[in-house]
Amino acid sequence: MYYSNEVFLHNTSYARYIDSDVESFSELDLDRIATGEGIDDYVDMYKVRRTDLYDINSRTFKIVNVLKVDKEYLKKHPYPLGVIIQRGSTKIICRAVDLLYNHLDLISIRGYSTDLEGSGISFSTNRIRSDSFNYHSELGEFLHVIGNRKRLETQIVQVHRLLQESTLLNDSDYRVRSKNSYNRITLNSRYTLKGIIANSVSRLSAYKKCSHCNQVETNLMDNNICTYCYRHEEGRCEVCESKKKLDTLQYIRSDVDSIGHNVLDSIGVEVCCSNCYDSSYNYCSRCKKVEIIDLYKLRSLNSLEEKTQYLRYYRMESDTFSNIRGSTYCTPCGSQAISNILNNPRRSKPLPNKISINSPFSRFVGIESEVITYYDDTDSFIEEGNIPRYFEAVHDGSLSDTGVELRTSSPIIGKQVDDALDSLQICNNMDDNYIDNTCGLHIHLNAIDFGFVELKSLLLIMSKIQDLVYDSLPNDRMDSNYARHISLSTKEISKIDSLPMLLNKYYNMVGGTFDEERYNEGRYIGTNLHARLYLGTVEFRYHEGTTDSKDIRKWIMFLNSIMSSSTTLVKNPKLYNKILSNKCPSIDVVRDVTGLRNTEYLENKIQINK
Ligand SMILES: [Zn+2]
Ligand SMILES: [Zn+2]
Ligand SMILES: [Zn+2]
Repeated sequence: MYYSNEVFLHNTSYARYIDSDVESFSELDLDRIATGEGIDDYVDMYKVRRTDLYDINSRTFKIVNVLKVDKEYLKKHPYPLGVIIQRGSTKIICRAVDLLYNHLDLISIRGYSTDLEGSGISFSTNRIRSDSFNYHSELGEFLHVIGNRKRLETQIVQVHRLLQESTLLNDSDYRVRSKNSYNRITLNSRYTLKGIIANSVSRLSAYKKCSHCNQVETNLMDNNICTYCYRHEEGRCEVCESKKKLDTLQYIRSDVDSIGHNVLDSIGVEVCCSNCYDSSYNYCSRCKKVEIIDLYKLRSLNSLEEKTQYLRYYRMESDTFSNIRGSTYCTPCGSQAISNILNNPRRSKPLPNKISINSPFSRFVGIESEVITYYDDTDSFIEEGNIPRYFEAVHDGSLSDTGVELRTSSPIIGKQVDDALDSLQICNNMDDNYIDNTCGLHIHLNAIDFGFVELKSLLLIMSKIQDLVYDSLPNDRMDSNYARHISLSTKEISKIDSLPMLLNKYYNMVGGTFDEERYNEGRYIGTNLHARLYLGTVEFRYHEGTTDSKDIRKWIMFLNSIMSSSTTLVKNPKLYNKILSNKCPSIDVVRDVTGLRNTEYLENKIQINK
């Protein structure tokens, strides 16, 4: 196709002066020109340009030569330094996109969004406000045409190709394409062109070599990778030694103040995949102790999947580091942090000034009894229903429509528990409350005295006897997602040797980590230790809903005996060994832990629910 060779250099920042006698690209060392390596007057070129290319005339050139490159090359490097332009004795090499042409086909503007009018248009790195175009109708029209073309990206990429496939002739040549489709912008829109000159970038933009393909480019990503390589090529992660797409690789810099960069830089890693960056080390956010994954083991794994898996579980399964409220701690620092939380759980309140003597309810208790009522909803129950002494009624979304949760409004102990249960029985009877399979009974027992040893003991006991406890429940409750099994064996629990490890193992059972939020998944385990960290209690969630206070009473007594045994287990090696022994039946442990009467209660309940 024939086009006019007359052009306007709208972007000078990527243009470079060359010797006036140079005609062809073979005479040029493009890499050297682009990067300025070895050119002494590199800085001077900029000064010259400011004074030299200041008006429309000095920016108007004729194209002398266009670099011929193949399609594949253009796909990867759409903006080659590949056009030689001339005015008088001045010769410049620039990119096809740096020029405005005398025809609409040769679109020369790049970097704009599809919403031209809204966002303005940017000429390379130089942004010109869109309102300035309102005064320049021709350019406005020109932009409108471009704006209406679909797939602008493709068009833009093709500028150089279109140019190298065109025959460029003097403007006066009769073969130049029909004047009707002329875009006379370069010659007519003087105000606009002046605006472009006034706003043009006042510095040279550097060309750099892509560190992957060695091609000289203007737009390089982090660590000098060209956009094409970045999206399409692969590199090797220096940590796990797997091949990964470059755009998933992270370049480690010693000057970045972040733990990830610091750690990886210290072991000489320059580039690694995002998996390794995120997960290949542990560090204590308090004392800054660091531990790096076993690189030998990581690299020896065969498939990428295995490596990813290993990385994924490295932090979760660490016995020396733990995650507490979103931060990682080493064991000593973690123990201190958790001790602080145990001493002062977020929602714990001072216990009432009551004590218990000669009562089976020797520990403060909180009762949450879920029942279904004949009232319309929770509100009407609160207004008209019978609310037992020591209790309050609250709404619970997990219950059937007319369900209500009756819960003690503050912890009760000793004789108060008898009174509360009596009152609960009377009220349930008066209102004909009943239960369905959405109802449960949750018992909180004060555990503010429970530290590492006691919590571990409790976990050991419950892990050993939980199957019997589940056996004692109605069938539909046995697999409740709200009272999940302790999935750790007594052997595994016995190996836990610190508070952080205890919490790690506990929260790992629900696939989470510890935080002090009320709604942490950790609360859904039948023996809910999350409550200890949040409220200062241990919550037992196993029991089915019931309107029979005698049931509740027996269950509380049963749990109370478990809590007591948890505080003394460490002094009872015989019982401890029974709990760990596979040969010792669970019911024997129940007997040792809870006593004869409680054991009878449990056996009885198992019998009933068989
Ligand atoms: Zn590249
Ligand atoms: Zn990696
Ligand atoms: Zn530490």
